[in-house]
Amino acid sequence: MNGVSYLESINVLVVDLDGVVWIGGKAIGANVRALRRLQEHMRIYYVTNNSTKSRPEYASKLRSLGLEAWESNVITSGRAATLWLKRFTKARNVYLIGEEGLRWELEVEGYHMVDRGLEAEAVVVGLDRRLTYHKLAEALKALLRGAYFIATNPDHILPEEETPIPGAGAIIAALETASKRKPDVIAGKPNPWILVSTLGDIDYSRVAVVGDRVDTDIELALRIGAKPILTLTGVTRNLDEETLRRLREANAIVVKDLGELLAR
Ligand SMILES: [Mg+2]
Repeated sequence: MNGVSYLESINVLVVDLDGVVWIGGKAIGANVRALRRLQEHMRIYYVTNNSTKSRPEYASKLRSLGLEAWESNVITSGRAATLWLKRFTKARNVYLIGEEGLRWELEVEGYHMVDRGLEAEAVVVGLDRRLTYHKLAEALKALLRGAYFIATNPDHILPEEETPIPGAGAIIAALETASKRKPDVIAGKPNPWILVSTLGDIDYSRVAVVGDRVDTDIELALRIGAKPILTLTGVTRNLDEETLRRLREANAIVVKDLGELLAR
């Protein structure tokens, strides 16, 4: 394939969504065009820490951009959190702080959402743009009684067009402070679980992870032994010397956008 020699050793490309495919709901043209070409040559998984939408919703949004995406090659932190709950606990009743996408992921695996913290065996926390003090108080009741503390993702902010908005990490931090507990799991990137829970035990040296964040996407690649690719289309626009040095040491590729990756 012309111009993708770097990618010849790769058979799976893991692609982040916010800051790579779109930003604040607006498609990033150069990246989308590159992905349309790349999907002809390798299996692509779209992997997002954003739990607010379900896999079918993300898949149809991606398909509307001409990208091949179905429930089977979209992974959200909400899916990963649900699979953790399923694999490692017997909990059935969940107190949810999160949006519809996360609720869908839990319900599709048979979990029951409760309105009272006291009835919950697990608290699942993701980004919730309708967060209230009441929800934090109910979640705290469950956590103080020993319910599982399951978090979707650590992102402290989300990139939006104008200014960033607080991410799930900010909500998790509030519950950590109140309960004096750490989550039992933060299922999203950089936790390798987000990939392992769906892809299983594959050869991760033949996987490349593309993302716009050093602390989640690049870190995930390093932890799981995949090739890290940082695109400067999202949260990370400029790199300080120290970060650049670390990325070089890790053999990470830094590109302005994914078009540049094809041109390498
Ligand atoms: Mg991102």
